[in-house]
Amino acid sequence: MATLREFREETQAWLADNCPDSMRGSGTDAEAVAGGTSQTYENPGAKVWLDRMAEKGWTAPMWPSEYGGGGLSRDQFLILQDEMIRINARSPIGGMGFSMIGPTLLDYGTEEQKQRHLPKIVNGEIRWCQGYSEPGAGSDLASLATKAEDMGDHFLVNGQKIWTSGAQNADWIFTLVRTEPQAPKHEGISFVLIDMDQPGVKVNPIKLISGSSPFNETFFDDAIAKKEDLVGQLNRGWTVAKRLLQHERSSISGMSSGGRRGRYDNLRSLSQIARDYIGMDDGKLADLVLRDQIIGNTMTSKAFSLTQRRAAAENASGGTPTFATSMFKYYGSELGKDRLELQLKAMGTQSFGWEGDMFTSEERTLTRTWLRSKGSSIAGGTSEIQLNIIAKRVLGLPD
Ligand SMILES: Cc1cc2nc3c(=O)[nH]c(=O)nc-3n(C[C@H](O)[C@H](O)[C@H](O)COP(=O)(O)OP(=O)(O)OC[C@H]3O[C@@H](n4cnc5c(N)ncnc54)[C@H](O)[C@@H]3O)c2cc1C
Repeated sequence: MATLREFREETQAWLADNCPDSMRGSGTDAEAVAGGTSQTYENPGAKVWLDRMAEKGWTAPMWPSEYGGGGLSRDQFLILQDEMIRINARSPIGGMGFSMIGPTLLDYGTEEQKQRHLPKIVNGEIRWCQGYSEPGAGSDLASLATKAEDMGDHFLVNGQKIWTSGAQNADWIFTLVRTEPQAPKHEGISFVLIDMDQPGVKVNPIKLISGSSPFNETFFDDAIAKKEDLVGQLNRGWTVAKRLLQHERSSISGMSSGGRRGRYDNLRSLSQIARDYIGMDDGKLADLVLRDQIIGNTMTSKAFSLTQRRAAAENASGGTPTFATSMFKYYGSELGKDRLELQLKAMGTQSFGWEGDMFTSEERTLTRTWLRSKGSSIAGGTSEIQLNIIAKRVLGLPD
């Protein structure tokens, strides 16, 4: 077996030969790849990069190789991350297959489910979305009402989900359904996988004031979930649901990259942006108050990233499927929002750019990123809910 040093050398050489130039540096939102049957490739290099990385299993570096993953150890994975960052290589693909349902299937799926679903995620063949929230069940997720009736060889699903990100482009949805209406609310829930290509599933885009529709309402009207697509035990889906949320929170906070890659690493640094917009005075940023705030945020971000690396190193599996993910999710999303607020202060009126020639493309991206950052402390459970979990499950405080 190659030593870590040999692995680093081989990885460096492979990346140098195989990462297309067009996949180095930050891309546009339109170039982002999440896979699935509706994926188009604005940048042809993105498809080349995806195929090459998938062939090595490096789209899911730490998943076992029998399911198409790279089979890397945590140390090898961190080397791969370092080397990709060194040449500014973009992730070949992202999405809920990798960050949520894949790791959850590895934890709770049957052998057959792993064989059937995981390789298609690795190759970017299938795109997934998340059917958790309902109009009457957000923070209080266990109040969900979508029901699934046992019809012998399948479940018949009826109900509505909301805020289903990316459902308009997804092939499959992992979802929570009520299978035992009389049971206490956490005990009558099951976790099922549903093929969206069927007449019983309808997706209705929710239009935002920006004009775009990243969210949807998803309706199940006699939709079919096959029995073989029940994950975990019948009526015990809450356990699976919580594990998936831990993986989701891990991903939102940057934990799943072992603290190597933060959510906003593709942006120029805060100090660079501030220098350009505010200017320097005697070798220092001309606005001393902002300078102080930027130093504070930058130091805290660095400390946060090192804490994530330490936590990842302490966890043999490299992820953090525990309640502690709530601490990282809470802190990471709030820290990210603070960073983008400071960026806004530095840019002044240039931070109001939405479209048009008065604003550079970077300014328009930064404005959108600032607005999007607000959603990080809501998606995957709000900051208030994370604080509740930390109080109860991590600190052991009474209800
Ligand atoms: C960007 C983004 C993407 C999303 N994508 C998806 C997706 O793909 N699939 C999906 O299923 N859902 C998705 N969601 C929905 C998300 O999971 C919910 O918005 C979230 O769980 C909060 O639920 P809610 O919006 O119903 O708010 P509510 O639960 O109504 O909460 C409203 C306010 O009350 C506070 N609150 C509620 N209960 C408590 C309590 N017990 N203690 C203290 N404060 C409380 C909340 O913190 C919040 O401030 C997404 C949300 C966002 C922002």
